[in-house]
Amino acid sequence: MNIHAPGLSPQVDVTGGRCRLCGHGLEHSFVDLGMSPLCESFLTPDQLDAMEPYFPLHAFVCQECFLVQLKEYVSPEHIFQEYAYFSSYSTTWVAHAKAYCDMVTRRFALGPDSLVVELASNDGYLLQHFEPLGIPVLGIEPAANVAKVAIEKRIATRVDFFGVRLAQELVAEGKQADVIVGNNVLAQVPDLNDFVAGMRLLLKPEGVITLEFPSLERLMAHNEFDTIYHEHFSYFSLVAIERMAARHHLKLVDVEALATHGGSLRVYLAHVASARSPAKSVDDLLAREQALGLRNPATYSSFAEQVRSTKRKLLSFLIAAKNEGKTVCGYGAPGKGNTLLNYCGIGTDFLEFTVDRNPYKHGRFTPGMHIPIRPVEAIDVAKPDYILILPWNLKHEIIRQMSHVGTWGGKFVVPIPEATIIDPAEVRQ
Ligand SMILES: [Zn+2]
Repeated sequence: MNIHAPGLSPQVDVTGGRCRLCGHGLEHSFVDLGMSPLCESFLTPDQLDAMEPYFPLHAFVCQECFLVQLKEYVSPEHIFQEYAYFSSYSTTWVAHAKAYCDMVTRRFALGPDSLVVELASNDGYLLQHFEPLGIPVLGIEPAANVAKVAIEKRIATRVDFFGVRLAQELVAEGKQADVIVGNNVLAQVPDLNDFVAGMRLLLKPEGVITLEFPSLERLMAHNEFDTIYHEHFSYFSLVAIERMAARHHLKLVDVEALATHGGSLRVYLAHVASARSPAKSVDDLLAREQALGLRNPATYSSFAEQVRSTKRKLLSFLIAAKNEGKTVCGYGAPGKGNTLLNYCGIGTDFLEFTVDRNPYKHGRFTPGMHIPIRPVEAIDVAKPDYILILPWNLKHEIIRQMSHVGTWGGKFVVPIPEATIIDPAEVRQ
């Protein structure tokens, strides 16, 4: 989620075509999204004429542990030095974080002697909610620019990459965690085994790790192929999480389904020797994934055609709209939007511009397709007929905030799971 300098070559395939969890050779294709630039490499105007690096965006499934993953490999130093993403810009996400903090505080009886550690703590959007509860926290955040925002809010934050090395340093300083939080970070970890081994070291004997990640079952059922991008190395089912936990002497003790990011799972892990026993939800979801065929490589093969069909439906809509002389702009410039735009070949011939609430992106251009990113108010000036919502996981929030586009007859288009037109006049406020 950083701003890359085009011309650099951040790609190194250190996995050697082997599964990053179990080491088995990767043979089964999941979906091939072609060649794509790094989806968070937003360009400044002076970079538009420079050569832009493209890399294969081809996901495989491991037939041994069923981890869906990208074979190609982008070095984390290039990804994480400077984020363009500040979690606090999404009001939905901040509210979700607050509800989480209240829940874990009650459920695990956290108090002034506890320690909550968040991995990839971003700008402190989550840990800030523990402060009024009097619970000590520590954020770990490799991107210096977002960590700085957290530190300015007086949230204890260490600018570093997390893994066994840092966990050992923290333990030597007398720091061990009652709760380790990892929200939407697991997918971005290149060395998964080092990361999980680090969490295990940092966790107190009766501590709990909670991890949130987009559900692979949801990704497949809802055609969420645009959540696949180079910065996301891995895509998890509960089946794969169970394998990962077992490898590191951890056990699954609970799992919850969440609505965030188009359908996520929150898993709770504890030491194998911990007194915590697994909730029924764990067996239930594992049985459900088994029944859906998520332990069978053949199940994964059908996804690629679903993706091609989703592309055709979106392009059919856009071509028809442009043939009728309609104007179309985008809303949002999230990473997933760039996978969608590049895979479908949607440039300024279809989308004149897109808008974003994050001022960091204003005046920049989307990677590959070079769509200009403007402040949200640009929509009120242009009065487009259609607004393509790229962060479709936030569609309710966006439609509510932007319902006034109905005054000039503007409509929203949601691309996933398939192109759908939404008239704000028909949405109950
Ligand atoms: Zn594997």
